[in-house]
This record gives sequence, C-alpha cells and structure tokens, in this order.
Amino acid sequence: MGKAEENRERGGATSRVLYLDHHATTPLDERVLEVMLPFLREDFGNPASRSHVFGWRAEAAVEDARERVAAAIGAQPREILFTSGATEANNLALLGVAEASRRRHLITVATEHPSVLDPCEHLERRGFEISRLPVAGDGLLAPGAVEAALGEDTLLVSVMAANNEIGVVQPSAEIAALCRERGVLFHSDAAQAGGRLALDVETAGIDLLSLSGHKCYGPKGVGALFVRAGRPRIRIGARQYGGGHERGLRSGTLPVALIVGMARALELALEGRENEELRLRGLRDRLHERILAELDGVHLNGHREERLAGNLNLAFEGVDGERLLLSLPDLAVSSGSACASANPAPSHVLIALGLSEELARASLRFGLGRGTREADIDFAADRIIESVRAEREIRGGQR
Ligand code: PMP
Repeated sequence: MGKAEENRERGGATSRVLYLDHHATTPLDERVLEVMLPFLREDFGNPASRSHVFGWRAEAAVEDARERVAAAIGAQPREILFTSGATEANNLALLGVAEASRRRHLITVATEHPSVLDPCEHLERRGFEISRLPVAGDGLLAPGAVEAALGEDTLLVSVMAANNEIGVVQPSAEIAALCRERGVLFHSDAAQAGGRLALDVETAGIDLLSLSGHKCYGPKGVGALFVRAGRPRIRIGARQYGGGHERGLRSGTLPVALIVGMARALELALEGRENEELRLRGLRDRLHERILAELDGVHLNGHREERLAGNLNLAFEGVDGERLLLSLPDLAVSSGSACASANPAPSHVLIALGLSEELARASLRFGLGRGTREADIDFAADRIIESVRAEREIRGGQR
C-alpha cells in the first residue's frame, strides 16, 4: 500500500496532518461508499415515484434503510423520519412538539449543542418558558435537578446522550424514567452517541431521539429523528411543507444514497462497537497519561469515566488555545466544537463546567477514531508537549 493510500485507509490524513477531530466529523467508510454508489448511478430513481420500477427500487432501498436504522436503536421502522442531519432532527423535535402542544415549558441543559439551545431560544422569544439546567463541574447533569424543574406545564425535556466537546455521557435512562412518571416527553440528541454507545429507545424510555450520519463514518447531509409511536401519544407539527413525505412531517425528496449510507454506517459501527470502545479508551488514556507525565497545570474537562471512549478535552494553564492550535499545524484538533468555531467566544460548555474564560480558551478537544493508531497518539503527545512548553516559555511560566 502506498503512503497516500495508507493515510486514506487510516482516515488519518490525506497529507501529513493527523486527524484527531472525530467529534466534528468522521471519514466516510469505504464499505459505506460502496453501498451508496449504485443509488448515485443506475438506481437514481425518486422513492416517491409510484408508477415505475426506478421509483420502486429507490423506495425499497429507503424502507430497508429505515428498518436498519430502527434496529440500531431498538425502534420500529415507522418511528424513523429521515432528515438532513441531527440539526434538523433537533429542530423538528423541539419546535414540532412545542407547536403541537398547549403546554409551554421546556427543560434543557446549559451544555447542549446549539441545534438544541437555539430552537429553545427561539421558543422563548415566542413566549415559552425554558429552563436551562446547570451541570456539575464534571459536566454531569443530576437527575434530581430535572425532577425539581418538572412542572404541570412541562412539555418536554431535552438532554443530549453524549456531549460533542467533553464527551460526557448523561444518565439518560434515569432522566427519561422521571419524565415518564410525570407524563413529560424526553428527547435525546444522540448525534455523538449513534454507533458509539449502545442505544435502545425502548429500555431507556426515550420518546424522541436525533441521529446524524456523518458522526459514525457515514455521509454528511443525512440524519434521522425517532418519534415514538403508541404511548405516550406524541403530537408533532411539521416544520416544512410540500409533497407530504415522511408522514407529512418532513417534505422533500429523500436522498436515497445518503439514507442507505447512514443505515450501513450505523450498522457497521455497532458491529465493532465494543472492541473499538476498548481500543479507543486505551489510546485516549495513553495520550492523557503521556501529557500528564510531562506537563504540569493540565486539567481534564469533563467526567473521567462517564465519557465517550475517544474523547479527551484538556485545559492547559498558561497558554492560549488559539495560539496553541496555530503551533500544531500537523494535528487536526479543535479548541471547541466545529459548529461554534466561527464564534470567538469561549466554549459555552466549558464555561458551564465553571472554567474561567482564560482556561476555557486554553482548552483543546481531541477526538480519536477508527483510523487512530498508537503511533499517532505518541506523535500527537510529543507535538503537544513540545508546543505547550514553547508557548509557556514565551509567557515565562511553568514546565
Ligand atoms: N448535536 C450534536 C451533539 C452534535 O455534535 C452535532 C454535530 N456537531 C449536531 C447535533 C448537529 O448534527 P448535524 O451535523 O448532523 O446537523
């Protein structure tokens, strides 16, 4: 295998940049691309075409994918709506449910993704009451805090399964059980958890759940919203209108190749999930330990155990995160979420953990993934140690 090919294979880099930003997105799995290609070529039909074989074939592929996505989260196929991604799924869940209810109170968490926080803000401007619950210093939400916030008028609680910056995994099932007892809907943004955690909407008591294709080695531009059928009965209003696709809740011609790809990606991720989790945890801990052995003044952001295996988020005292990033051109890491990187404000997630603005700005997020190898970790650790030392020397500080 040639070098470039080897790099592509590892998802590491197409040049000499090591990719450690798997929370922003993941490379497309070759096996996923393979099942997508026929639907970009000869099987190009519109699944809504009812009068010929092109349409029937496309529809069959979509329905097969719907079954696979449903199976990946313990749902029924009719409970899956395809969307353009988790952003749209989150918007549809929150705005759609709010529009169809008379209740006026929603509960969410300070560390949620902007695609949950922004729709909440939009609802607030329209007269809804929004509770944004704080988290502990380790990023965990106490179920008791949710219980205390639930009221007669509460419609829905939205808590992400796993955080995109600090990887913290929330006690979703416990919170969902509290909601169920009080007749309140529970929504889970599982964009980061799909394919990484074992998700079962039935046992976890989840009513609505958002997924994204590109976080689990599938294509970008596709996602899904699970909406529980049966009890409790969920009323949800459409956010866009047109041909009445997806049970009238999400009109628009379905992107068959993307949908087929997402379903295959989820399946593949779940097949190797447990081994991959152990492997990533080992590599992640190695990176953490190597950095701690060489540098003082380094703090872990987020809970030590209750986090995604491939996530490490560290605050480096005495450095500026942006400058540190600039000194690491051979590492693709980030100082916050990709979605917020156009925004110069420090990470709202790290601020919610109680970090100072300075320390929040001096934090880096490492997202390890399928292509990451031990040699990559050693390379990354060496580069980080070297760069933090150099940065601190300029500032005249610690080791
Ligand atoms: N929620 C979380 C937790 C995410 O990490 C992301 C992607 N950054 C999204 C939602 C949005 O997903 P998509 O890119 O599929 O719109």
